[in-house]
Amino acid sequence: MWPQNWRDEIWSRLDQPWDVIVIGGGITGAGILREATRLGLRTLLVEQRDFAWGTSSRSSKLVHGGLRYLKERKVRLTRASVRERKRLLQEGPGLIDPLGFLLATYQGDRPGRWTYSAGLSVYDLLALQWSHRHYSADDFQMLAPHISRAGLKGGFRYGDAQTDDARLVLRLIQEGVADGGVAINYVAAEKLLREGDVRGVRLRDQVTGRTAEVYGQVVVNATGAWADRLRAQVGGQAAIRPLRGSHLLFPAWRLPVAQAVSFLHPVDRRPVFIFPWEGITLVGTTDVDHDQPLDDEPHISPDEVAYLMAAVEAQFPALELTLDDVISTFAGVRPVIGTGKEDPSKESRDHVVWTEDGLLTVTGGKLTTFRLIALDALKAMRDRLPDMPPPDDRMPVLKPVILEMPGAEHLDEAARRRLLGRYAADAPALVAAALPGELEPIPGTQTLWAELRWAARAEGVLHLDDLLLRRVRLGHLLPEGGEEYLPRIRAICQPELGWDDARWQAEEAAYLQLWHTCYSLPDRAALPDWRAMLAQAQARQAAARPTRRRQILKRSALAGGGMAVALLLPFLYRRRKKAAHSSALSSSSHRSSTSTK
Ligand SMILES: Cc1cc2nc3c(=O)[nH]c(=O)nc-3n(C[C@H](O)[C@H](O)[C@H](O)COP(=O)(O)OP(=O)(O)OC[C@H]3O[C@@H](n4cnc5c(N)ncnc54)[C@H](O)[C@@H]3O)c2cc1C
Repeated sequence: MWPQNWRDEIWSRLDQPWDVIVIGGGITGAGILREATRLGLRTLLVEQRDFAWGTSSRSSKLVHGGLRYLKERKVRLTRASVRERKRLLQEGPGLIDPLGFLLATYQGDRPGRWTYSAGLSVYDLLALQWSHRHYSADDFQMLAPHISRAGLKGGFRYGDAQTDDARLVLRLIQEGVADGGVAINYVAAEKLLREGDVRGVRLRDQVTGRTAEVYGQVVVNATGAWADRLRAQVGGQAAIRPLRGSHLLFPAWRLPVAQAVSFLHPVDRRPVFIFPWEGITLVGTTDVDHDQPLDDEPHISPDEVAYLMAAVEAQFPALELTLDDVISTFAGVRPVIGTGKEDPSKESRDHVVWTEDGLLTVTGGKLTTFRLIALDALKAMRDRLPDMPPPDDRMPVLKPVILEMPGAEHLDEAARRRLLGRYAADAPALVAAALPGELEPIPGTQTLWAELRWAARAEGVLHLDDLLLRRVRLGHLLPEGGEEYLPRIRAICQPELGWDDARWQAEEAAYLQLWHTCYSLPDRAALPDWRAMLAQAQARQAAARPTRRRQILKRSALAGGGMAVALLLPFLYRRRKKAAHSSALSSSSHRSSTSTK
């Protein structure tokens, strides 16, 4: 898609008048580019680092309604999310795929079975489906072998979905570009330009340092957690509360789950997920105030590692997982609108659309609802773009992909589906470009060697971390960031990227340094003792949980109380009737005495 010299070619075209200039190449910006180009709007998207470099490559990768939103009575958000999920599942197989969720219930759990049952029924009804089912403890353990058996009462299974977030962003950008849009990475919006209201932006190419001034009818601030920076230029009050969420990644053979396992963390009763993704197992997430500088790549803190290890230990004690089992880690920053709530998890995850002096800020929200967020943004542009045709809700979100892939006949159905979902219209070219042996998976992953060649050739890669962390996810999936395979990766990619030896070596050193700082475990000496943390939490819970004797006493007290009320009812009824009769008599005598006066 991005041929040789693409950056210079785009740069030479920047001075045209744009309808929409989108700042930020995460899912929000990509969604707006996609929907705006669909309507024929001349749209430019700029991203200061790599496409999806921000939060949109660091999410939990779930395309879901989110049961927790239902618990917070966010019925509209949940309904919108589950309906988007359905569309995406239909339109993007191989990129958005079904994922079963298991929800265990334990003795003394609050909420318990019936609350979950009611919640899941509503969840399913909102999606116009019926996917959930309850299982006894024995059956549930067959679905989730190794799960903690202590106090297990049973559990539910229900259906949700997952994706590769960075590839989803890229697919939207590619489809937007195919429909006439322009997108460029490593270009930052430095300064908003005003003609009365905001009408343009001064851009800086982060590679060459060159600058350009571009103008459009609408300037959209889709910079996620960075949104306050541009808003400050129009006098906007800071509103974002950056909240970090981190994950631990384990090899599937050490933490084997065939579907997601969801449970309440023993320390703070927040929902935590353990789920399969791309052949490994992800554990997440945390929700803490992010006090690292926003321009540095976020990374997991020692406290978060301990919190997630405690979760794994509580749910899968028999596996005896240790830090040596962790393959990698990653952290992302949620762009949440802060309202000063003490508990970060209580802050709303809704998106906002604000217009301030002509600057349209679109932030917050979820990956899952990117299309709805984009449609809201377009609605807010209407007064600036009165000739814009109305969006057609029936249009597919993702372009249908029905393609032959000559040369890929020997790949199994799952691998072919994965290629079509992730590379869409480019999948046949990817297969055609593969040299002998490159349609084999890289050991321990589902990624084909050929994906590396294609990404290096045609997907706008500027640095090695773009390639290994976002185009393909080897930096997450392989121990030590895939260092073992760097010689073969180099043999495939260096000629495609046109880098000389010195450039390759510098990129490799920078990538490994980044991986060790932000994608591996922090210094082990700094880690709190999660087993002690867990033991304390479990002791607290045990103390709070009513004992069997107390439960029996409580139940008998309730039953006794109920019986007493039942026995007393006829007596109380008669007393009430008698009292009513005498009061009727006295009031009629009162009325008559009044009338006789
Ligand atoms: C840990 C975690 C887990 C999550 N899990 C899920 C999930 O499972 N499902 C779900 O639906 N949602 C999930 N979310 C929410 C979702 O990931 C985010 O809401 C979404 O990715 C935000 O996208 P965005 O485009 O607004 O921001 P970003 O992806 O951060 O994009 C903003 C971009 O703007 C760029 N930028 C900033 N300033 C400038 C500038 N001056 N010039 C040019 N570019 C600029 C940044 O570099 C960045 O790439 C999760 C979030 C987190 C943190």
